[in-house]
Formats: sequence, structure tokens, C-alpha cells
Amino acid sequence: MAGHQHVGLLTDEALLHNIAHGCEDCFDLLFFRFFRPVLNMAFKIIRDRSEAEDVVQEVFLSIHEQRERFDPSVGTARTWVLQFGYYKSLKRRTYLWNRQFYAPHVDEDGDGRDPALVQPEFIQRSVEEKEIVEQGLASRIYTEKCRTERDHRTMPCFPQSRAASNYGVAAF
Ligand SMILES: [Zn+2]
Repeated sequence: MAGHQHVGLLTDEALLHNIAHGCEDCFDLLFFRFFRPVLNMAFKIIRDRSEAEDVVQEVFLSIHEQRERFDPSVGTARTWVLQFGYYKSLKRRTYLWNRQFYAPHVDEDGDGRDPALVQPEFIQRSVEEKEIVEQGLASRIYTEKCRTERDHRTMPCFPQSRAASNYGVAAF
């Protein structure tokens, strides 16, 4: 058990600090705090739900793998996390386009801008925008992916019921 409490509000930076020191509970908290803005961003860039969900998995795997590399003197934890989402979404979209998975098309939000081309503001907008996904998606993605043996070795899993009750999924 980690030598710190998980009650009350831990800042994003505190979570990453604790994750870097091996606390998987804090990783779970970080996931529940950020899965939705990361998914929103991925979906806006890729425009495909299942591909966006895959990107969310990639993002949190990378965060876990690189958990010791966050430097609070460079930027906020939120920016650090969302940049994984941004760049991995772009990478996936390029990959899909190259495979001609679907044709490039204009942004459908009505503002005529491609969200991938307006990064800083886009990140802010994505975080602040209303959710595009239903409640409970985080748990579903997480547990689905954790069923594979490979992910069990590389990514911590947790009982869904414990996560939902301890971390107040409905509250974020
Ligand atoms: Zn912790």
C-alpha cells in the first residue's frame, strides 16, 4: 500500500508524482479523471468511435510506461496527459488515411476548422466541452482491454466495482 491517502482532492501533479513512485491506485484515479477529455479529443480528430477508444488505451499505456518522465517545471500534468492524446490521435489518423481506411474530410462541428490544426485552443476546447460519451464507458474500455494477457502485464487493472464506488465515477 502506498504511503499516502486517496481521499480528498489530489492534484493532477500529485497523482503523476505518486504514479511515478509506483502507486497504481493513483494511476486508476488519473485514468478516471482524464479518459473522457482524451476520448473526446481522439474522437474529434479521428471521427471513429472504436479507433478513438483504441487511442485512449494507447495513451494511458504510454503514460504508464513514461510515468517517471513528467516534469512539472515544464508544464502542467493536464497538458502532459492531453498531449499524449493529441499526438497519438494524429498519428492514428495519419495511419488510417494512409491505409485509406476512410477519406479525409472537413470538420463536422460547423466551425469549418480541422481540430488537428488548432492545437492549443483545441486542447482547451476539448477539455471544456460537454461529454460525447455515455457514463460508464471508462470502465468498459478499461476492463475490456484488461482482459488480454498482454495488457495485464503492461497495464494495471482493477475491479470495476471498487473503482466505481471509491472513485466516484459519476461525479467527474
Ligand atoms: Zn496513490
